[in-house]
Amino acid sequence: MPMMSYPFSPRSSWEALQPLDDKQIRAIQKKLERQRKTAAKEERGILCRSCGHIITMPRLRTTVQGRHVHTFLNPSGIEFTIGCFSDAAGCRNIGIPTTQHTWFPGYGWRIALCAGCQIHLGWQFMGEDQAPFHGLILDLLVE
Ligand SMILES: [Zn+2]
Repeated sequence: MPMMSYPFSPRSSWEALQPLDDKQIRAIQKKLERQRKTAAKEERGILCRSCGHIITMPRLRTTVQGRHVHTFLNPSGIEFTIGCFSDAAGCRNIGIPTTQHTWFPGYGWRIALCAGCQIHLGWQFMGEDQAPFHGLILDLLVE
């Protein structure tokens, strides 16, 4: 019959059940903050090409209707190549979404500006039942 083994001695597992004191909590919070800062440094953002403001992150690239990159013409015949991102916290989204001339059926859109320099970077698309996403003009971004 195999020997039972325990990861902790009875004393250390008993200690693990004790509530932490303030000093221990502060130490854990400091450690988490250090890890967050390291992770933020390691993950390079996707920036506004004109001002360097962080717009989104590579891990937030998403696919909509099966693709990340889409090329569309606007009603004036200007072509835009956009990448889809599940979030773009560096954008300032303007106004109330409209479904007029929408490129994604089921989604309304509103203008997304760079929150740093206010340049027009793309659009935020919002659906009734789907998660919102950003379609950002790839030429205006830099990694
Ligand atoms: Zn900018």
